[in-house]
Amino acid sequence: MLRVAVLSVHTCPLACLGGWETGGMNVYVRELSRELGKLGVATDVFTRRQDPELCSVVALGENARVVHVDAGPPRHVDKYAVLDYLSEFACNVQRFRYFHGVRYDLVHAHYWLSGRLGTLFHEHWGVPTVAMFHTLAQMKNRVAQDAAELEQQIRIDIERRTMTTVDRVIAATDVDKAQMVSEYGAHPRSIDVVPGGVDLAMFRPGSQTEARAALGLGSERVLLFVGRIQPLKGVDILLRAATELARDGSKLRVVLVGGTAPGLRGQVSDEEREMTRLRTLTVELGLERQVRFEGAVAHDRLPLYYQAADLTVMPSTYESFGLVAVESLACGTPVVASRVGGLTTIVRDGANGALVPWRNPRLFADKIRPILRDEGLRRALGRGGLETASRYGWSRVAERTLDIYDAVLSRRLAARASIAE
Ligand code: UDP
Repeated sequence: MLRVAVLSVHTCPLACLGGWETGGMNVYVRELSRELGKLGVATDVFTRRQDPELCSVVALGENARVVHVDAGPPRHVDKYAVLDYLSEFACNVQRFRYFHGVRYDLVHAHYWLSGRLGTLFHEHWGVPTVAMFHTLAQMKNRVAQDAAELEQQIRIDIERRTMTTVDRVIAATDVDKAQMVSEYGAHPRSIDVVPGGVDLAMFRPGSQTEARAALGLGSERVLLFVGRIQPLKGVDILLRAATELARDGSKLRVVLVGGTAPGLRGQVSDEEREMTRLRTLTVELGLERQVRFEGAVAHDRLPLYYQAADLTVMPSTYESFGLVAVESLACGTPVVASRVGGLTTIVRDGANGALVPWRNPRLFADKIRPILRDEGLRRALGRGGLETASRYGWSRVAERTLDIYDAVLSRRLAARASIAE
């Protein structure tokens, strides 16, 4: 049986979603590991322990488990502080491997912090390494609106080094791949493209009336946002667009899903700061009665929200992929999104939603208005969305990933054989 050490150092696939740092990557690692397990690949997902109460090893599914590794304090710490605990993390992974008598055939590293460790294990274990970044610091810095949002040079350096050291890099889309080439000088031939996925059994169409009743929503038009509450998600753009839409007297509800983290040790967290900014803006725009802040919602409850909504709005300034878009489309709910990053590969203007130049509330309102007014158009876009989403099942993501593992392992064997000759 193929055994893969999955590195997800800074965030756990079992974490509650919708927090500052818990979103798409957690879902991706969780679902990919489960699907690989079904294909007969054993995965151990190593993640830094952030809660002293958690068991060391937790089953994630068939052939898949999460290993909470002691490294630094067992609580959330800033991602840059995690760098100081990487050597402890590496030692404890080695210890786990030794005590459990496990050998891995391959390392799959997620995010730059894991990329740093992946290159280390690559050397010490002599096994091939595959890396994914999920977001790129260079791209985040391009859209940062103030200094506090800027990623540090050390992250960019680690990303660049990882891209040139590992056996394969997996990009989420062709756009993601092109950004790695142009922004980091990565070699295009070392990068494969595998998009994110969606659980098509869980995210599917349902009765809008029943979903609204379950969520306490009425007959007004409902715009939905789902995601981490971070400035780059552009929630302020949605709020300003809603003001434009409300001007013509349309009855409108904006439902905002996401946001959890309490302040650490009395500090105001970045998320709380962003949430306060958005609540203040809501009041300034006179939208208190229209906007509902839901906080984080469990993943398996989200289908209700997508089914209840008329449209999902993604006004992000950067997305390497955008799982929320495929989840919404899988529920038959069209998506109006910024024309950025991975969203341009999922949302098709006039086919399953609309794309809008980023950071322009008026243009968002102009694209949203006709879809809200024309039920026939909305239904047609919904059908287009189902067709799009049908191509994004997690099983397909796992199959494509396994093909990459096989190719990497075969190349390694061939290289060894040629050295032996
Ligand atoms: N999510 C969730 N509950 C929330 C907010 C978000 O389950 O309250 C999930 C959402 O369904 C999606 C993921 O978090 O699967 C966000 O992924 P996406 O790729 O859209 O954004 P990222 O977090 O990668 O920026």
